[in-house]
Amino acid sequence: MDTGLSGFLKKLALVSLPVQQIYKISSDTYVLTIEKFSGFLPGQVVGLTIGTDIPPRLYSICSSPDEENLSILFNVKPDGMLSPRLSQINPGDPVRVSAPFGAFLGDHQPAWWIASGTGVAPFRSMARTGLYTGKKLIHGGRFADNFYFQHEFVSLLGDQYIRCCSQEKAPGCYEGRLTQWLRDQSQIPLNQMYYLCGSSEMVVEVRDILISKGVGIEKIMSEIYF
Ligand SMILES: Cc1cc2nc3c(=O)[nH]c(=O)nc-3n(C[C@H](O)[C@H](O)[C@H](O)COP(=O)(O)OP(=O)(O)OC[C@H]3O[C@@H](n4cnc5c(N)ncnc54)[C@H](O)[C@@H]3O)c2cc1C
Repeated sequence: MDTGLSGFLKKLALVSLPVQQIYKISSDTYVLTIEKFSGFLPGQVVGLTIGTDIPPRLYSICSSPDEENLSILFNVKPDGMLSPRLSQINPGDPVRVSAPFGAFLGDHQPAWWIASGTGVAPFRSMARTGLYTGKKLIHGGRFADNFYFQHEFVSLLGDQYIRCCSQEKAPGCYEGRLTQWLRDQSQIPLNQMYYLCGSSEMVVEVRDILISKGVGIEKIMSEIYF
């Protein structure tokens, strides 16, 4: 019997919808758009797959509920089952999608958004929905082209948008990992929420750093992409 996440994913009810658009946003990362077939809240995810042989994977919605369409941002895991095939899909081809769900939700309160890689997706949905006031976004990527949607974030967040590039020098970016940037901060706000999204390594390390700087565990909300 399937238990845990894989059992949950296999039971998701899916509807078939044609891809409206798919484009490459960096060397191995894509934005895929379908019709917005259901309402959702910024920060939620959908289960998505192609065909019937691969169980759905979860993807954060990176568009706003105010838009006509629904988009996801995904990168290709070369040895993964779904993402290499998803990257080969064409407009008009069907994908199978679940209703949006999830409790990693944005609000209007001040907060820091901390993301690695494609973990920036839910924050783009939140920002596009107008939830950017009082927010700081700290985004970690290895290469200069990993700062997806950076022009939007620069225009919405200005100097509250911090890009940390760990493996090459990039204009406008802190040189190093986002965890180093965080460690370098002598003081960070204690009376606000911290939203963490991305790899488990990043989330675990950032949580430790925040707690060591005095942030209460109840102020930290995480979405782990595994
Ligand atoms: C809540 C949530 C939200 C997410 N949102 C996004 C998002 O917005 N964008 C995004 O790009 N991704 C997101 N993900 C990740 C996404 O769901 C998929 O995991 C990802 O796209 C890889 O899928 P895949 O089928 O290509 O790879 P998989 O086939 O699932 O494999 C993933 C990796 O694990 C390795 N692997 C597989 N099986 C094993 C095994 N038995 N032992 C060891 N290694 C193994 C593979 O080699 C590969 O490197 C999210 C995940 C979660 C949980």
